[in-house]
Amino acid sequence: MSDTELTAAARQLDAFAAAHGFEAEPALYITGEVRIPLHNGETLYSDAAHLYCAACADRFLKMVVTLKGPEAERDHPICPTDPGTGEDVPAHCVTCGETLDHSLTREGCAGEIVHYEDTPSADISPQEAFAIARVLDAAIWDDGLSTRGLTLARAALAHIACGRVRS
Ligand SMILES: [Zn+2]
Repeated sequence: MSDTELTAAARQLDAFAAAHGFEAEPALYITGEVRIPLHNGETLYSDAAHLYCAACADRFLKMVVTLKGPEAERDHPICPTDPGTGEDVPAHCVTCGETLDHSLTREGCAGEIVHYEDTPSADISPQEAFAIARVLDAAIWDDGLSTRGLTLARAALAHIACGRVRS
């Protein structure tokens, strides 16, 4: 029914994000669990569910190497997530918050649609355009979600058409 429009909207949003300089970095995780008590009472912690951009993953692992020695680099290699495996929530770097490359599960897609329905945006950023494109890519596979996704897509494209764009 509306799948063609959904797919076209997703590609338009991806093109908008790219044209405004946003290119999603791969989502990385640090293998194994890191749990190091620090002098200030906090704990340096990471597990495979924590996603990072490359810069933050490197910085985290350097801290671990400083605290535990060079073998930490072998014990905790930095690996990319499988982009084909859908996420239940959009992927963001746990440290800096940057949006990372991802696809969504049906649950993840439904959750994001509810989020945008409850708190509609008054404008759009390149990161948000990318994130909405991921919602649309997943919504295509579900009749109930594709109709609601189309409403979201039209609102996002209207922001772009009217210049309601933030950086
Ligand atoms: Zn980061």
